[in-house]
This record gives sequence, structure tokens and C-alpha cells, in this order.
Amino acid sequence: MALEHIGDNQKLKLLIKKLEEKYPHYDFSTPAPLDRICKAKHECNKPDKLMYYDVKGNLYCGQKFQQTIDETNINRWEWRTCNALVKTVEELKLSRAKQNKFFN
Ligand SMILES: [Zn+2]
Repeated sequence: MALEHIGDNQKLKLLIKKLEEKYPHYDFSTPAPLDRICKAKHECNKPDKLMYYDVKGNLYCGQKFQQTIDETNINRWEWRTCNALVKTVEELKLSRAKQNKFFN
């Protein structure tokens, strides 16, 4: 996970220093991999699943699913949202260009 620079906040710098001290072998310079794996395969494979775009235009899976929060009691669960990345802006532009090429 890359730690993004946000202004000159002293507390943030202190937090970054603490994280680097706590995890000396972790490489904070590499960005986190994109979260592309759906959390609920059955729910996410439904044809009418919810999807949403972020402000940049990336497409995400917005499917809700039930997840147990207590391993000893399967009746204790709560709703979670998948939030897996389906397509980036670049991938969407590429697929739209391919569609336009096919239909024109
Ligand atoms: Zn999903």
C-alpha cells in the first residue's frame, strides 16, 4: 500500500513514521493492487446486480450481500457492499471504442 502525501500535516507524518517503524519490511512505495475480486460470487454474478461509478469514472460492483459477523452464530450477520473494481476508465473507453467499431 502506498502512503499518499497529503499536505504538511505533522500528525500524518508521525503516523507514516510509526507505520514504517512497525512494519520495517513492508514496501510502502508500491501502490496497493486494484481490488477486482468480487466478495460474493453468487450475488455478484446476478445479471441485475448494482453497479456504480466513482468521480473518476471507474466502474465498481455495488452488490450487497449478507456476511456473518460471529463465527459461532450464523444468525448474526450484516449487509456488506462488494465494492470490487469491474472496469477502469481506460478499460471502459477501450470497450466503447470496440463497440463503436463493431456497430459502425
Ligand atoms: Zn461484486
